[in-house]
Amino acid sequence: MTTPRDAARRAVHQRQPRTFDVPRQPDGHRSPVSGYFGRHVLDLIKLKERLPRETYGAFISTLRHGSPLKREVADAIASTARDWAMGHGATHFTHWFQPMTGLTAEKHDSFIDLNVQAQGELRVLERFSGSQLVQGEPDASSFPSGGMRSTFEARGYTAWDPSSPMFLVESANGRTLCIPSVFISYYGQSLDHKTPLLRSLDALNRRAVAFLKLLGDVDVHSVNATLGCEQEYFLVDRDHFALRPDLLMCERTLLGAASPRGQQFEDHYFGTIPPRVQAFMEEMEFELCRLGVPVRTRHNEVAPMQFEMAPIFEDVNMGNDHNVLAMDIARKVALRHHLVCLFNEKPFAGLNGSGKHCNWSMGTDKGENLLEPGRTPHQNLRFLAFLAACLKAVNDHAVALRYSIANANNDLRLGANEAPPAILSVFVGDQLTDIIEKTVAGVSKEDPEHFVLEMGVAKLPTVARDNTDRNRTSPFAFTGNKFEYRAVGSAANCAGPMTMLNSAMADALGQMTTRLKARLDKGEERDEAVLSLLREVFAETQAIRFEGNGYSEEWRMEAAKRGLPNIPDTPSALEAMAKPTQHAFLAELGVLSETELTSRFNVDIERYIKQVTLEAETLVEMLYTLVVPAAEKQLALTGAAWTAARGAAQGERAPSTLGARAGGASGAFERRVGEISGALEEVLAAAGRIETVLDELDTVHDERAHARRLAEEVRPLAVRARDAADRLEKLVDDDLWPLPKYREMLFVK
Ligand code: ADP
Ligand code: MG
Repeated sequence: MTTPRDAARRAVHQRQPRTFDVPRQPDGHRSPVSGYFGRHVLDLIKLKERLPRETYGAFISTLRHGSPLKREVADAIASTARDWAMGHGATHFTHWFQPMTGLTAEKHDSFIDLNVQAQGELRVLERFSGSQLVQGEPDASSFPSGGMRSTFEARGYTAWDPSSPMFLVESANGRTLCIPSVFISYYGQSLDHKTPLLRSLDALNRRAVAFLKLLGDVDVHSVNATLGCEQEYFLVDRDHFALRPDLLMCERTLLGAASPRGQQFEDHYFGTIPPRVQAFMEEMEFELCRLGVPVRTRHNEVAPMQFEMAPIFEDVNMGNDHNVLAMDIARKVALRHHLVCLFNEKPFAGLNGSGKHCNWSMGTDKGENLLEPGRTPHQNLRFLAFLAACLKAVNDHAVALRYSIANANNDLRLGANEAPPAILSVFVGDQLTDIIEKTVAGVSKEDPEHFVLEMGVAKLPTVARDNTDRNRTSPFAFTGNKFEYRAVGSAANCAGPMTMLNSAMADALGQMTTRLKARLDKGEERDEAVLSLLREVFAETQAIRFEGNGYSEEWRMEAAKRGLPNIPDTPSALEAMAKPTQHAFLAELGVLSETELTSRFNVDIERYIKQVTLEAETLVEMLYTLVVPAAEKQLALTGAAWTAARGAAQGERAPSTLGARAGGASGAFERRVGEISGALEEVLAAAGRIETVLDELDTVHDERAHARRLAEEVRPLAVRARDAADRLEKLVDDDLWPLPKYREMLFVK
């Protein structure tokens, strides 16, 4: 009899790469990417071509200076958007927003409207007004708000974010115009990821410009943060996915013995991309490019069936929208290739988890990267000042940053010996360490320009990129002209960590501005004052710098000595962040009010509880309905075989040679029975214990206590149950094992 697992195994190996209709040139060759890049985006160029000059000018002024959008302008843009979208086959529009569920949300409305004519005749026509563009009102009562909206005000509004362009999303039979939006309550409180992100960018802009003015860069009008995220993901075949309740429910395997071949040969990283996977990547990239997402890099990652994509960096708001979109498109396109794209941070035990390295920097409206050492001594002093601010940001707000990356799945990845540890530290590389230390030691106060030259900051750009790279164990590493925030989990909406980083930076810059101003007011010469401030800040932030191996036990001890927080899990991160000393800066900067933050804590803890409970319930069910029955059958078979062997032995030999080692001289038979029944017992005991704790937790109403017990009792019990179940997987007849094994899922060609 063919089992479902067998059928899947065969089918998977017969699947071919899927082709799709690529746009072609007249000679049949595929079009260059520039031929279709941005085709589905209503970008500024398209708006400029279609709008009257004044209207376009008014819109640009709204974008640049935040001047209110006039009704006529909104109407003109809406009707342009409708015409453009309908010209591309769109029938509907939707406000596209990012609620705190971590996914995107959309509620589609058709463009149609009814027009009643004089004699009561009805005519259908397509309409899309400025007010429909600017504001929407989805039934928001079902989105998590952390208790902020009581039912009588259960209204949430979506409002257009004009800084991110509208785009078209394709479905099987049509297209929909998507309007990037924020999601806010009736009283203007944020209910999403985008609102605080935009506020943090605003705070960073204000503080950075003020600081630059003091440094002498008076002609900088705005500073924007930039983001390029390297997105890791796993792929599994849909047939395997369908046979695994854990993947279906939790997007991660809760059971599964390691296959003999894992990532130990290090042959997957940058290896040949499997043809089926490459076909998927090509189609995904095509769709993303049409949506204006500048995807550039694709490669195999360390674990088998793990891959990465990375775009060219953009400003943070756009970069984040594009990342969210990329995840969405990746999931959809994967299905067409009979694959499922997993963004979960730890889908397979014993293999690398997935992260989303957020490459982050700051750029001015003059096109200068503030984390790029430059050619002139002034540029280099400025670079050091922003570097110092980054160190101060992470040093002062390590808890907030740790909180921003905390979730149930990233907890399993952080510190698991393949991902950055849960302790935040900053890696800057040898050269910068040397410069920082020289600065702290304080040389040639009289001639700051010469000092900066002497330190060789100017030579950094050429060497730094190669040199500072590849401390893979650091959660926050300087890589030549940007920081790479590596602790972010692959499934995260990077708006969370980016909001925190921008805010921490804004706070650090604000404090440095005050201190620099005090020095200047005392009459200190500018460069000298800056250098003195740098000396202080570099000294104050010494503890956060770490160049060594972040995976090592020594670092954990050293970090404890330095007093750096080591926050192991989400419940602890939430507790730490709940202290006003850790989060007050967010309200001061206008990023998140106390009420908004409290509501976020409520959402976070609820999510953690739901997630870990779901995992535990799925695991228990899998144990009882899949693992235990298979093991019982095996035990019966092995037991019967053992009895038969004993009978045979009894017939042949003198009874005296049998005794305790019945069934075989070595006792291997008996050991096998013992191993199976022992592991089975352990599975049953752990499953029973998990059930008991979950039952007890039903009556625990303090969410913090609830979450803590899940982290400290249920998760370790799940590990114990898994350990025993995985031993059974290796003892039970392969034909009896119902779940696709790691070796089947991970080595798809
Ligand atoms: P790596 O060596 O880590 O692979 P890459 O040069 O490939 O580094 O860059 C990784 C990501 O960093 C890309 O998405 C890239 O666009 C982005 N990046 C480069 N410069 C910046 C910057 N100034 N700000 C933000 N992201 C950047
Ligand atoms: Mg990188």
